[in-house]
Amino acid sequence: MPHGKKPQHSRRLKNASRQTRDQVLRQALLNIYRRSRAHFGRLDWWPGETPFEVMVGAILTQNTSWANVERAIDNLKKNQLLQPRRLRKVKLQKLEQLIRPSGYFRQKARRLKIFLEFFFAPPLNGSIANMKKIPAGRMRQMLLAVKGIGPETADSILLYALDKPVFVIDAYTRRIFSQLGLAPEKISYEDLRKFFEQNLPQSVSLFNDYHAQIVAIGKHFCKKRAKCQLCPLFDLRKCHAHDSRPL
Ligand code: SF4
Repeated sequence: MPHGKKPQHSRRLKNASRQTRDQVLRQALLNIYRRSRAHFGRLDWWPGETPFEVMVGAILTQNTSWANVERAIDNLKKNQLLQPRRLRKVKLQKLEQLIRPSGYFRQKARRLKIFLEFFFAPPLNGSIANMKKIPAGRMRQMLLAVKGIGPETADSILLYALDKPVFVIDAYTRRIFSQLGLAPEKISYEDLRKFFEQNLPQSVSLFNDYHAQIVAIGKHFCKKRAKCQLCPLFDLRKCHAHDSRPL
């Protein structure tokens, strides 16, 4: 046998063990999802009546709680401003006051205005349908090029407003999956996103609810002082905080 060439069976074995590993990983991810869903039920995100409202909410929720965003969204609704053309026309100072409850209101008002200019420029021309027609990868690049839109906001828009199979990562995802021993604590956003997208069926409905379940686990159990004994993921292997130490 020439040097450097591995026997076929060893290659097959290597492939087989990789396949087995991938299957185990897939099963583990689905198992986590099913346990959480059995506890919380299907969560039906995102809390927004239209794709445009979801996009506005995704920008307003940066660095604040959803309760604060809801107050800002209510103000916009009361002023009939949750319509792209009307929101584009409103004066910056008025917008700042209306979204004040969401925090960082000056910065967010500017970000909304910048996003609206992007939304009304070609090739989108103010149309959600045009956004939906653009492939996910290209649309993602376009969103990330808009000032003030980072990966989490872009992916929330892609998944929850445009129904594209893109997995949303947040601080809860990183915390929970490192606690479960499935991802390194310092893993990058992109690597963790690819980890989910490559190991789960490419389903918008699954990605939608899976991220919502992660947020629910994070909010209710996997907090600074973890409530491990009550958590639906409590007895999963390699979960390091079973004694309720702060994470
Ligand atoms: S069992 Fe504890 S550490 Fe593990 S995910 Fe639940 S709350 Fe977090």
